[in-house]
Parts: sequence; C-alpha cells; structure tokens
Amino acid sequence: MTTIRKQKALKKINRKVILNILRNSGEVSISELSKKVNLSKPTLMNIMNYYINKGLVVITGKGSSTEEGGKKPNIFKINSSAGYAIGMAILANKLISIVTDLKGKILEKISVDLETDEKFDSVLKKINNSYKQLVNNINGKKVIGLAVGTYGITNFDNGVIIYSPHFPSWGENIELKKKISEQLPSKIAIFIENGVRFQAFAEKTFGVAKKEENIIAIQAGKGLAAGVIAENKIKRGRHYIIGEIGHMLINPEGKEVCACGGKGCFEVMVSTKRILRRAKEKFNDCPESLIFNEKDIDKINMYDIFDALKKKDKLAKELIDDIINWFAIGISNIILTNDPQIVVIQGIFTKAGKYFLDNLKEKINKISLRKIKKETDIKYSKLGDNVCALGAASYVLSRYFE
Ligand SMILES: [Zn+2]
Repeated sequence: MTTIRKQKALKKINRKVILNILRNSGEVSISELSKKVNLSKPTLMNIMNYYINKGLVVITGKGSSTEEGGKKPNIFKINSSAGYAIGMAILANKLISIVTDLKGKILEKISVDLETDEKFDSVLKKINNSYKQLVNNINGKKVIGLAVGTYGITNFDNGVIIYSPHFPSWGENIELKKKISEQLPSKIAIFIENGVRFQAFAEKTFGVAKKEENIIAIQAGKGLAAGVIAENKIKRGRHYIIGEIGHMLINPEGKEVCACGGKGCFEVMVSTKRILRRAKEKFNDCPESLIFNEKDIDKINMYDIFDALKKKDKLAKELIDDIINWFAIGISNIILTNDPQIVVIQGIFTKAGKYFLDNLKEKINKISLRKIKKETDIKYSKLGDNVCALGAASYVLSRYFE
C-alpha cells in the first residue's frame, strides 16, 4: 500500500472506532473521547465535523464541567433519527415487522397473521406491504436496511431459504432476498438469516446476554433450534446448520419419530406436542390433576401445565421433570461443545417458572463435567415475541456502523 492509501485506510478506521464509541456510550465530549483513544483533540474534532456534515452526529449542548480556560465543552451524540432499520420475523403463524431508529428503539410494530403453510407469493406480498406501511409511518425517512429472520436452513450469503419447516409448500431453495429486492422501491441492504441467529443477536444487543461474547440462545416450543454466537460472531457453519440442535440424538431408545425422520431427537423429546400428548394419556390415572381443571381435555395447553406446576401439582411435576431431564442432557452436550458464558432459553418455556429453571441448572451441573466448576449461566429471555424482529433490526444497525 502506498503511504497515502495507508493514511486513508487509517483515517477510516479511526472514524469507525469513534462512531462506535459514540454509539455505545451515548453522549461524550472531545476530552472524554481523547481519554478513550490515542488521537489528538484536533483529529477528534475533524472526525466529529465529518459526521456532523453527514448528519450522523449532533451537538446536544454544553457539558457541565469546565475545561482549560473555563469554557464548557460541546457534548456530541449519535443523531438517532439519521436513519432507520427494519427487522422482520416470519413465524409459523404471523409476520412481525418493526422499525427502529439508529439506537435500536422500536418506533412502530406491525403483526400480520399467516395461514398454516401459507403460499410463498402471498407471504412475499405481506412482507412488501408491511415494509411500505412502516416506511409510511416514519414519513418516508431514510431506511438503512432490512433484515428478515426465517426459520429453517437459510443461506445467509445469498439470501436463499434452503428449507423451511413451517412452509413445506415453498419447496427448496427459495430466493427470498432476490424476490424482496425486486419489489422494494429503493435499493437498500437486505439480510436474510435463520431467525434463531437473530434471536441470539437480540440477546447480545438488548437482552440478558448483553456484554457476553459466547452465547447460545435456544428457541424451544413445537420445534427446537439454537443461535450460536462465539467470540462475538454469529456462527453458521459450512452448510448453515450450526445450531440445528433439535436433531441431536439424545434418546437412543426413543420411539417418537421426529420431523427429520429420525427417532429420539432432542426436538421430539422436549416438544410441546409430546408433553401435551403425555398429559392427555395420564388423564384416566389422575383426573384430579390441576392440569385438567374441569377443562375439555383436548383444549389443555402448556400454560395449564405451568400453572399446575406452580401449585405443586403432582402430575405437572412428573411431566416437567421428564422434560428437564431431556433438556439437561441436550444442554450439557451443547455446553461441552461450545463452552458459552450463557445459555438463554427462549420461547414458551420462559413461562415455566422458577422450578423448571432451578432444576434444569441443578441437573446440568450434576451430569456435566462435575470436576470443573462451570459458570455457565442459564437464563430465561425477557424479550418476548419481538425477539427475532428486534435481533434482525439490530443486525442491520451493526452492519451499518461496521
Ligand atoms: Zn430430528
């Protein structure tokens, strides 16, 4: 590289570093910045002016402390309305779309119902309509990018959904990125990713895994998959199947057939479908269980089991203990292969209460490398059903600030 090119590259890196400090720390003065980076105050001032001209940084006012000469210093911050990110999540039964400002604050949310295995063209139309509506709601201001989380095996690099378990009628290799970009009125950055990866990213950016570098976020419900972040990077693998933990064999004696065709898969052992089926099978033995609570037996759901568990119901405890056992086996294997600082549980089990979480932790510690004191935390997610769309939008932001 020539010296001039080197200087230019260095300048770019310096700008990026400063922008990210601003992004993470809120409001700062030049002298606060100069304590964090090894750059002169005039250089920092030049960088600020560069971003002020671009509309990305604003002066919020004067600081309270005085500098040399008794002057109050200017305080700078990111102009959070200089651009907007759109995040979407294609769930089995709905499309959730949000728009955030540059700080990741959700400004608008739209939720549209999807039919079971709704046709691709119809879902594409809903994506397009939700996008237009969100852009309308921010008065047509600048959108910096769109990210869509979709469940199943997804090629992040070319934006193709290789296979979607919720939408078998879509077939294989659906060019979602291409189809969306053909419809959007203007050219913007588009990212298509397996939703569980965005969910892990959301935990890192806004959730219980903030500041952690090695994170596993497990989405459990009817299906089971995980988003893996290792050393601050989303992990995908050669065939985009890192995190397909649902198909780890955890019960060689298992008879239940999984969606993948195998038996004894992690997914099938902890699926809500199996738990509810087992509960119904027990009705004749324990009709007095609080799970049934004078309800039509075919209408019981997971919340009935969780509620009964909280009231120390014997059958609920028996059903949940079985699930804890399978979760513990699965998660302890995941911990051994990934060594994360935290495992975040997402999805319906976040409502299972203290008993589930405490006993899960205890069981994992019992069966997994007992001689090593492990400090892997296991926590429930607190992000609710926005988690995927929020992760998608925050991914757009992170790429923008890169
Ligand atoms: Zn399977």
